Amino acid sequence: MKTVKSQFKFKGGVHPDYNKELARDKAIERMGVPAELVVSMSQHLGAPAKCLVKAGDYVRRGQLIGEKNGFISVCVRAPADGLVKAVEKRLGPAGGKADAVVLDTTAAAPEGSPPAAEGPVLPPLDWRSAPREDLLKRVEEAGICGMGGAGFPTAVKLNPPPGKRCEYLILNGAECEPYLTADFRVMLERADRIRTGVEIMRKILGGPAVRIAIEANKPEAIAAMEKAFADIEGNVEIVVLPVLYPQGSEKHQIFATVGRVVPEPPALPIDVGCVVENVGTVAAIADAVEKGEPLLERVTTISGDAVAEPKNVLAPSGTKYSDLVAFCGGTKEPPAKVISGGTMMGFAVSTMDIATTKTTSGLLLLSPRRVFQYASGSCINCGRCLRACPMNLNPALISKAVDASDIKSAEDAHVMDCIECGACSFGCPAYRTITQSCRRAKNSIRARIAAEKAKAAAAKEAK
Ligand code: SF4
Ligand code: SF4
Repeated sequence: MKTVKSQFKFKGGVHPDYNKELARDKAIERMGVPAELVVSMSQHLGAPAKCLVKAGDYVRRGQLIGEKNGFISVCVRAPADGLVKAVEKRLGPAGGKADAVVLDTTAAAPEGSPPAAEGPVLPPLDWRSAPREDLLKRVEEAGICGMGGAGFPTAVKLNPPPGKRCEYLILNGAECEPYLTADFRVMLERADRIRTGVEIMRKILGGPAVRIAIEANKPEAIAAMEKAFADIEGNVEIVVLPVLYPQGSEKHQIFATVGRVVPEPPALPIDVGCVVENVGTVAAIADAVEKGEPLLERVTTISGDAVAEPKNVLAPSGTKYSDLVAFCGGTKEPPAKVISGGTMMGFAVSTMDIATTKTTSGLLLLSPRRVFQYASGSCINCGRCLRACPMNLNPALISKAVDASDIKSAEDAHVMDCIECGACSFGCPAYRTITQSCRRAKNSIRARIAAEKAKAAAAKEAK
């Protein structure tokens, strides 16, 4: 095992204020189970899970409450014992509504309820002797999805289609989003679990080379990984990346670590022989296999200058934002803005009733001093957004097309390649909301494609 510097720098990128000092030295704190959990059936990319419970049911921690509903989908398990108060549509962190199971965790188990679980939720496996198929099945039944971004189902990623082979397993420890320190703390405090997770994933994937990607501004995390992986056998390297946003983007990380370029969608990392997983996900795989512990909780950074005590909190999935903030001592002052995620790619939220999911990496409460009020103006053609865009797009052209409701022109300008990183909006002197324009265009194109597919299916049915 050796540590090397990245040899490849992607085009574009920006340097936002990282503001990680607020929470980086705060050890992970476990939060107790709150009185109410709101467990979404849509905690991942792909089809929402199919809910298996109804109001009045009593569920036990780890019980399957949502089953995988398609190839790109993930099961959901109860994060705690509790009485199902309701199954209803609830607002999620990204703004959409999805079915959610509302659990009263204070209710006593009614007579006839399933008994309290004794021991692990799933039988622990010895990864050294277990067949690859059993390990893969465990990742699926533990409900694991990518915890660093969109929440792609991990079992699908770990099972490349016929003809495709994983040559490089890349661990994403970049955490380039401002304020967020959850992955940093996991690398410091759970390095042994990451090492075990890597061994398991190498076995599932047939022994690829391993690259552990960490930005240069996290020397403590690099040291922790060097120690944990010191005696590992095989082709394993820690790759120190330059500090540049969005270094944590999957495509840019593949380029920065192994110099390969993922072609335009629908191409995936596996098309260039790579599988990328967030460090928290890798630790979750170790727990699922060795301890029989499904993915029921995660570390989330609660930060920002309006929160009383920024922390890295280990909380059950379905914990409401209001409970997370209360665990951090409440607010110092009313926040002017609350963001689910980081400041670059996160979503502004309007209610603290929203609950965490398996992908909630951060919750930021920002005071009026940190929130710049501005009026969006006309493009002055300065070209700054073109230089910042890591996907080589023309963000100015796309935003003007969206302003004119000309989605076709945005599509022609390859808006579907946009990774919504926010680098274009970050430096725009006219304060144009370019990233939101890209999101709007992408949503509109996806809706059109879905409508076309539905129409074609209906026509086929009618024949
Ligand atoms: S156009 Fe998309 S990919 Fe390019 S900088 Fe803007 S948000 Fe990022
Ligand atoms: S940065 Fe803003 S003003 Fe400059 S070209 Fe891009 S959209 Fe126009």
